[in-house]
Amino acid sequence: MIPRYDPTFHFRDLTTALRLSADEGANDALCARLRQLYGVKHVFLFNSARMALFALLKAYGRPGGVLMPAYTCIVVPEAVQCAGYRPVFADIDPCTLNVNAENLEKQWTPDMTVVLATHLMGIPCDVDSVMSFGRAHGLLVIEDAAPAVGAEIHGRLAGTIGDASIISFQATKVISSEDGGALLTNSDELAERVRPLLSAGGSPSNRWVLFLKAIARKLVLRPTVYALAQRAYRLLRRESMYDVVTPEVSDPATFLKQCSPFTSALVTVQLARLEKNLERRRCVAEIYEAGIPGNPAIRVPERVKDSKPAWIQFPILVKDKGHFYRYMQEHGIDMSWTYKYSCADSFGQAGYPESQAAAKAVLGLPTYPSLTDEQARRICAVAARYVEPASA
Ligand SMILES: *Cc1c(COP(=O)(O)O)cnc(C)c1O
Repeated sequence: MIPRYDPTFHFRDLTTALRLSADEGANDALCARLRQLYGVKHVFLFNSARMALFALLKAYGRPGGVLMPAYTCIVVPEAVQCAGYRPVFADIDPCTLNVNAENLEKQWTPDMTVVLATHLMGIPCDVDSVMSFGRAHGLLVIEDAAPAVGAEIHGRLAGTIGDASIISFQATKVISSEDGGALLTNSDELAERVRPLLSAGGSPSNRWVLFLKAIARKLVLRPTVYALAQRAYRLLRRESMYDVVTPEVSDPATFLKQCSPFTSALVTVQLARLEKNLERRRCVAEIYEAGIPGNPAIRVPERVKDSKPAWIQFPILVKDKGHFYRYMQEHGIDMSWTYKYSCADSFGQAGYPESQAAAKAVLGLPTYPSLTDEQARRICAVAARYVEPASA
C-alpha cells in the first residue's frame, strides 16, 4: 500500500532534534534560519500556524470581517473567530480551486479589515490580485502559506508578498514535525504587538512526548503496517465523502502555545534538505501532470503561470470520489481526502456551490519526498485505467 503521506523526518533527525533541544537555543536558531530564508525582519514561532494567525489578528487589533476562500482548512476560520473577528467566505473558482478577484469583490462590505491569500495544498494562489483587492479596500493582507514553505510565484517565495504570513510544520506539510508554525512579517508595528502575546502563551509540549509521537507516526506509515492499520480503521468507521464539520470553539485566553525547542530543532535539521524535498515533490508532480490528464474522467486544476508549487499533495477532481477512492485502494494506492467540507457550511452560511462541489470531488495524490518516480508512474498507470461508473 502506498500511504497518502509520509513524514519528511528520518529517525536520525529525531535523535538529533532531541540532542539539540536540550539547550535553550533551538527556537532562536530556527527564527534566524527562517529570517534568512525568507529575507524577512520578524519571525515568531508558535505551536501551530492557526495560533500564528490568531496572534497576528490580535496584534492587528481591528476586529471585523476576515475574507477567505470557503474551500480551505477549517482551523483557519476557527482561529479567526477565536481572535474576535468574523470569518467571511468567498466561493472558489472551479478552475483553480482558489478565490478570484471577482468572487472576493462580491463579498466585500465596509466592516472588513483583513483578507487572506491562501496557497492551498502548497499551490500558489494569484496573490497579486488578492494584494490589489486588499490595497483597494484598505485591508491587511495575510498570506496563508501554511502548506507552502518553499513555493514560489514569479520568482518570489510564497509568504513574502503580503503584509504578514503564516507557515506550518504540522505532520502533513512540506516539512513535517508533530506541531509548530510561524508568523512572518516586515512590519515593526505588528511585531511589537505580537511579542507580548507570544511570551504570555502557554508552555510548549514536552519534547519526549513529541519524540515518541513522531516515532509512532513514522512506524505506522511503513507500508505493511499502514495497510493493516487502514483495514482496521475502515472496519471501525466508514470514510464519508462529504462532511459538514462543526467548528471547534476554543478559549481565546488559553489558545496560544509556544513552540517546543524539539520542534524547532527538528524543523531546522530538515531545512537543510528543503531544496531536495521540494525537488522531489516537483518531480512527482511533473509525472502526474504528464500522466493524469490522459484520462478524461480525472481533472487536474489549473495553476497560476510562472509558479512553483510546494505540493503537499497533488489535487485531482473526479465525479464520484468514493468510487475512485475504492478503485485506487484496491490497487494499493491511498489518497488524501483533504478537504471534504466547505467551511461556509460549517459556519451556517448557505450557498458557495463551487466550494461544495470541490469538497465532493477533490482527492489528493501523494507527493512526499520518499515517494519514488516508479511509484508515481504506477499511480498514473492505475489512474489511466479508471472508468467512472455509468450512473455518475
Ligand atoms: C494546515 C493548514 C493550516 C493550519 O496549520 P496548523 O499548523 O495545523 O495550524 C492552515 N491553512 C492551510 C491552508 C493549511 O493547509
